[in-house]
Amino acid sequence: MNDCIFCKIIEGSIPSNKVYEDEHVLAFMDVAPVSKGHTLLIPKQHVKDLFEMPEEVARNLYAAAPKIANAIKKAFNPQGMNTLNNNGSFAGQTVFHYHLHFIPRYDETDGFQMKWEVKQNEFTPDKLKSIAEEIKDNLNK
Ligand code: 5GP
Ligand code: ZN
Repeated sequence: MNDCIFCKIIEGSIPSNKVYEDEHVLAFMDVAPVSKGHTLLIPKQHVKDLFEMPEEVARNLYAAAPKIANAIKKAFNPQGMNTLNNNGSFAGQTVFHYHLHFIPRYDETDGFQMKWEVKQNEFTPDKLKSIAEEIKDNLNK
């Protein structure tokens, strides 16, 4: 894709700090890291987001994920790590070439926060059952 910044990073026409590369994927440092070691893993094939990702691309991408996570862990000894991927502007995606963030976690002030508002009262067991059915009905559609 001509105007895609991550495709340009893959080609090498935009510089990046690469940490891992194979036939299918590239991992490099996020230019605006949240914490020390914040790394992005991308498929070399231009795929906009998870919704458009072929299974084969997903297999190859996630096959490399433990290697990246463990290298960051060994390098900086974080207390934990969040991996996350934003799909769509509303979900916070700003670069429309799929990427998986690896954000090492050090302490409460490391810059990463997640608000997780549980609504167990709203989603009763019956509702969960019917929601699961709706999703199942849409598999392979
Ligand atoms: P998103 O918000 O789409 O999930 O994340 C995009 C990420 O890409 C951001 O964390 C941003 O800092 C990073 N990013 C954007 N442009 C560049 C770039 O040119 N080089 C690198 N290394 N990272 C970038
Ligand atoms: Zn791209």
